[in-house]
Amino acid sequence: MAGKMDSLEVEDYVVRMRRHFHANPELSFKEFRTAGRIEEELKSFGLEPKRTGETGVVADISGSSGGKTVAVRADIDALPVKEENDLDFASGTEGVMHACGHDSHIAMALGAAKILAGKRDEFRGTVRMLFQAAEESPPGGAVELIRGGALKGVDYVIGQHSISRYPAGTAAINYGPMMANADQFTIKIKGIGGHGSAPQEAVDALAIACQYVVQAQTIISRRIPPFKSAVVTFGTMNSGYRYNIIAPYAELTGTVRTFDEETRETVRHELERMLEGISKSTGCEYEFEYAKGYPALINNNDIALVIEDVAKEVLGEGSILHPEPDMGGEDFAYYVKEVPGAFYFLGVRNDEKGITSPQHSPTYDVDESAMKYGTEILVRTSLKLLSS
Ligand SMILES: [Zn+2]
Ligand SMILES: [Zn+2]
Repeated sequence: MAGKMDSLEVEDYVVRMRRHFHANPELSFKEFRTAGRIEEELKSFGLEPKRTGETGVVADISGSSGGKTVAVRADIDALPVKEENDLDFASGTEGVMHACGHDSHIAMALGAAKILAGKRDEFRGTVRMLFQAAEESPPGGAVELIRGGALKGVDYVIGQHSISRYPAGTAAINYGPMMANADQFTIKIKGIGGHGSAPQEAVDALAIACQYVVQAQTIISRRIPPFKSAVVTFGTMNSGYRYNIIAPYAELTGTVRTFDEETRETVRHELERMLEGISKSTGCEYEFEYAKGYPALINNNDIALVIEDVAKEVLGEGSILHPEPDMGGEDFAYYVKEVPGAFYFLGVRNDEKGITSPQHSPTYDVDESAMKYGTEILVRTSLKLLSS
């Protein structure tokens, strides 16, 4: 590990903050107490935080005048999940939980702000801390922050996500595509109900829906070039009244994940075309709604390289992973559409401590010993980009 880790001096603080936010989770766009506490902390470092929207918080940490501006983004919202962890600082709000690690993102960003605020006479330029609402809930809080001017004058933007897939002491980053276009669709099928004993008089919406769900997977295998990535997942199917009634309606919802616009459009088009075909062959009617969600997160390669170099300094050679791109969605994508930036995953898994549950699960947890690395990487990457 090169040089002393400033983050060790704020490690206790970062852990304390993470536990505070973990115990007090709030849902997307409702992060009122969370934003209030973030402002309070930032003020205690001598900063002047400003609200953007109802629960976004932005604060500049300015070194000597002139120079560049680097934005550091942390998302702050929790999920509608009932926590099953047996922790002293488990969620105190029934049915709401920091099950995606955003509590740790807030804590590490506050730790980084604390360190940087104490170094203002050592750097030129500005580090802008972006505490963003509602990552979990499209259209998401990034759009609101950007509309409020959070990226005005910003040269580069960085962000991180705690991920339990990778062990504490590692980081993962991709060059180019990092996370996917995350779209959703709703399909309504209208048949004709009838008696379970007389299918000839009915148009069975449930049977049509089943046929469609199976057939839709051939879009991936038969319509998308083998070297392109795409996922079609049906998440829900609702249909039917009783065992001896032919269902007149069926509703399907699902998600489509892709990395490029052409593939995205192909999947959307084929989903609808297939539905039209089934409608013609069965006589059902349909409605097809397709909503584009967060765009794909495409890292800027120069910024990704800076993060990787810093992460190697902090974690050691051999601790940096380059996995396949993740099919999850992430509204950090909007920032990197505006200014050069990159996003990386901080490993927070620890098999020995039993910290292995996936993101969004009721037993999700973060190995807190990894947070000093995340804090350090944010600080050093910011300073490195300012001096570039
Ligand atoms: Zn999440
Ligand atoms: Zn998340």
